[in-house]
Amino acid sequence: MKKKFAYFSAEIGLNNQMKTFSGGLGILAGDTIKAMADLRVPLCAVTLLYKKGFFKQEIENNYQKESEDTWDFQKILTDINKQVCVNINGEDIKVKIWRYEQKGCDGYTIPIYYLDTDLNENPDWAQCITNKLYQGNRLYQEIVLGIGGVRALREIGEDKIEKFHMNEGHSSFLTLELYREHGQKTNDWDEHCVREKCIFTTHTPIPAGHDKFEYNEIYNSIQESTHLIPHQLKKLAGFDMLNTTKLAMSFSNHINAVSKKHGEITKQMFPEYQIHSITNGIHTETWAHKSIQKLFDKYIHGWRKDNTNLKKVFQIPDNELLQAHKEAKNEMIEFVNQKNITGAKLKEDVLTIGFARRFVKYKQADLIFENIEQLIKLKGKVQFIFSGKSHINDGLGKGIMQRVIEKSKQLNGKIEIAFLENYDIDIAKKLISGCDLWLNTPTLPNEASGTSGMKAVVNGCLHFSKLDGWAIESYQMNGGGFPITNKDDFFNTLEYKIIPKFYCNYSNQWVGEMKLAIGNSGSYFNTHRMVKEYIELAYKCKYEDIREN
Ligand SMILES: *Cc1c(COP(=O)(O)O)cnc(C)c1O
Repeated sequence: MKKKFAYFSAEIGLNNQMKTFSGGLGILAGDTIKAMADLRVPLCAVTLLYKKGFFKQEIENNYQKESEDTWDFQKILTDINKQVCVNINGEDIKVKIWRYEQKGCDGYTIPIYYLDTDLNENPDWAQCITNKLYQGNRLYQEIVLGIGGVRALREIGEDKIEKFHMNEGHSSFLTLELYREHGQKTNDWDEHCVREKCIFTTHTPIPAGHDKFEYNEIYNSIQESTHLIPHQLKKLAGFDMLNTTKLAMSFSNHINAVSKKHGEITKQMFPEYQIHSITNGIHTETWAHKSIQKLFDKYIHGWRKDNTNLKKVFQIPDNELLQAHKEAKNEMIEFVNQKNITGAKLKEDVLTIGFARRFVKYKQADLIFENIEQLIKLKGKVQFIFSGKSHINDGLGKGIMQRVIEKSKQLNGKIEIAFLENYDIDIAKKLISGCDLWLNTPTLPNEASGTSGMKAVVNGCLHFSKLDGWAIESYQMNGGGFPITNKDDFFNTLEYKIIPKFYCNYSNQWVGEMKLAIGNSGSYFNTHRMVKEYIELAYKCKYEDIREN
């Protein structure tokens, strides 16, 4: 059956064996594809085959050290014996196509195509284009993804694609290829024909997240696909440099941000475009702990097929929910006590606060160390777990990580703070299900959405967050947890509101909050709800009409 929609993403994170993701963007892409499969949406996906992954992290002298993260791609992907050609810098570069099949909860399959330039017949400089995620020549990677991706779909026979969904600007060159394709076929060079087919999702308000390239570099590298004269292209993609976000936006008939707040910020950044918002979600079956899944199976009919059924969490008896959480927590504590590098010794009955995500300045991982006196006053009442990677060239982020590790070691015996190396999907699963509280302290308004907190709440781990991204919406819908309304609130909220509730009212008030988290937040911040919004608002189809039998 030919697919109607194609989803392009520079990273896709499906599981821990396939190292083609770095963080939130890739995990979201993976969770989106899984929900599309559960809902039997005729979609295929395109990404790059990074044989050396993103990187493996070790901590040496409290500082991040990186090494290659190779994986068994030959065992996991299928060689479909097809390739396409993309001209880069005047040379024809061969791009090989591999396939992976992601199955939904009742067996429907979404194919994902991985593009690979690591072929003997390519020149050395081209063999390494797709080697590593976000390293090497970014422009060439984006040419392979966008232009090579469209050609790959044609080569495979996917010629009924109605909508091309760009997950971030990395794939925006697909618009130029669609423009060339349509123009050469019909001799109609109206940009409108491309616009009808494209959807664009932007994921960050941070300028560094929006790639820009010099026009002379663009014209040198992709002569064959730039059928727009420079004046036209600059009008669409920015006058001084080619901004991939603007290129994607100019060629899209639907543009969206990933939370309501992010939508407002994006409108301010790009006032010339119409911006919608579709708030992110997570794939609950991927992120709910086994003990929690067992409980859902017992009390919530149909939750795997449609996460919105989690509204019925209120039918679960309190003691069974607490018991399921305890199982996840004990398992995590045993793991953390074995593996942490800061010498922390965590206890099973202590309020456990988790913080695991990319170490980048705006996420402020080191916020708890701003008042050490207040922090150590909480000895015995709280314990912390940190984990996360910094992007290879992010010196500031690595500095913050170093500070967190150093302080955690210094405070040994005063307060327990664990750091785990090499944050990945498996560690994420343990922490978001085993912690009692999930901390989120970005500088506003930089957290476009955030998704680790969504993974936490569906396990009954409460969200303790600043008012940014998805958290604003979650607190508005009485979705459990504790907002941090201003900076001074952090220690006060912890000491006077959270700690008493945890230790004095655990078996009634705390479990009540857990149910609000699962029932109100979990039933909404999932990719089943999100994907349906994409289909109706962005792809402009009725779900019932496009669903495959
Ligand atoms: C969910 C997830 C992220 C993204 O978390 P944020 O809260 O959005 O920063 C990053 N890395 C991994 C491994 C994840 O599972």
